[in-house]
Amino acid sequence: NANRKFHPDSTVVDINGVKLGDGNFQIIAGPCSVESEEQICQVALAVKEAGATLYRGGAFKPRTSPYAFQGMREEGINLLLEAKKVSGLPIVTEVMDISHLPLFENVDVIQVGARNMQNFELLKELGTLKKPILLKRGLSSTLQEFLMSAEYIMAGGNNNVILCERGIRTFETSTRNTLDLASIPLLKSLTHLPVIVDPSHATGIARLVKPMALAAAACGADGLMIEVHNDPAHALCDGAQSLTPEAFKDVADAVKAILPYSFKG
Ligand code: PEP
Ligand code: MN
Repeated sequence: NANRKFHPDSTVVDINGVKLGDGNFQIIAGPCSVESEEQICQVALAVKEAGATLYRGGAFKPRTSPYAFQGMREEGINLLLEAKKVSGLPIVTEVMDISHLPLFENVDVIQVGARNMQNFELLKELGTLKKPILLKRGLSSTLQEFLMSAEYIMAGGNNNVILCERGIRTFETSTRNTLDLASIPLLKSLTHLPVIVDPSHATGIARLVKPMALAAAACGADGLMIEVHNDPAHALCDGAQSLTPEAFKDVADAVKAILPYSFKG
């Protein structure tokens, strides 16, 4: 059960020693997509140097258009494992289909993207694993629906669920999504699960990542997920919202500086 009423102590998700939910702040960073061995290893070392504690990269990409880059798939996962070896950072990557799960055996955190938040059969299958699951909020899901999806995973016996607020669809079109900042303290009171925020997909605009990352930290989030690319202008996916490693370092440093003043509930 995800409800804090029945489980007052916060759940701590331990990813090879990197803990989420114990009061420490973790930053997941990395490109939207794995593009090549050179790119994925170079960015891994750069974000680690800048303060990231977990590494992300998409191998299976849920693109709106079937003609857009779909990801490197199995090869992408192998390159991520290579980046993990090089950097020492645990890796987070998205699964889109139950049939691909055998490829995720050595992945540290399995991500369920916004578009699959209510893929109940997938959630049930992830509940049978022991691996941490990063569950992103659906494109237009309520917090209750979000929490019920977490419970689909937990009901199978896997309590290692990390919630990720990544913005929701509203009437506003000037940002990619609308970041629901109030969901952070609300979720933290409703559930014992760790809550992180993705300001990259929430805004779609690189310049807005820093203010939204600061706001999320101030609101009491347990961590962030930020897209970083070595050459955002030529990224195969989500370049407009991707930070350079230098810009990412600036955000990570600013966030760490305000953590002592963040809302603790
Ligand atoms: C992602 O993190 O790469 C992604 C596709 O995000 P979302 O599912 O939140 O759109
Ligand atoms: Mn992306």
